[in-house]
Amino acid sequence: MRTDLDRRISVFTLIELLVVIAIIAILASMLLPALSRAKDMSQRSSCSNNLKQIGLAMIMYAEDHDDRFPSYNIAGSGPAYNSWYEQIDLYTNNKQIRRCPELPDYHLGYGANWRHVICYADSGTSWADLVRKFSSFKRPAEDMAFCDSHNGGYRGTNSLLEGTSGFQAVYCKHDYPNSAYSLVNNAVSSRHSGGSNCLFVDGHVTWYKVGRILSTGSDSLWGHTNL
Ligand SMILES: [Zn+2]
Ligand SMILES: [Zn+2]
Repeated sequence: MRTDLDRRISVFTLIELLVVIAIIAILASMLLPALSRAKDMSQRSSCSNNLKQIGLAMIMYAEDHDDRFPSYNIAGSGPAYNSWYEQIDLYTNNKQIRRCPELPDYHLGYGANWRHVICYADSGTSWADLVRKFSSFKRPAEDMAFCDSHNGGYRGTNSLLEGTSGFQAVYCKHDYPNSAYSLVNNAVSSRHSGGSNCLFVDGHVTWYKVGRILSTGSDSLWGHTNL
């Protein structure tokens, strides 16, 4: 026969259970964002390692090519005429470092600082003079060579979607303030917490918010006035 005491115990137990469930729910809601932040940080760090290896490959490439960086691409066909990321393959020996870990497999994640670091090498055109020598950078620790890119800007659409791959160049806002490139952050990606990893000519990598990367002030990262 159930007594009043039994009933009190069972009600108390139910309330306890609800309280425990509520506490678990609160703890989980506190923990999940921390876990997601930890995942973001680990991907940002792995992306930064990719860029450091690209930086080393660029320097090794220059040592073997009269101090010149690879070109954006070269008109023609065959391995010697390919894009910058194919020209440095010999030095990286690992195509996976082209991909930012936030992107699906086999997608390029990084764009080169178009014109100020990487340029066409077509002989006989005005672009040929712009292929930079490594030693020509006056402030290699301040001039950005590569960063996370996306291809929305290159397509010239108004799409704000990051897409599943990057474009092989990013564009200086001094030179492209109002063009198809500028529609979506001049192809600079915001996939790492609203920012992008930036590889500098001296080989170090720093993360910045997109707004900071695109700044045209005296703190510009593009080497625009360093030609
Ligand atoms: Zn990345
Ligand atoms: Zn510029």
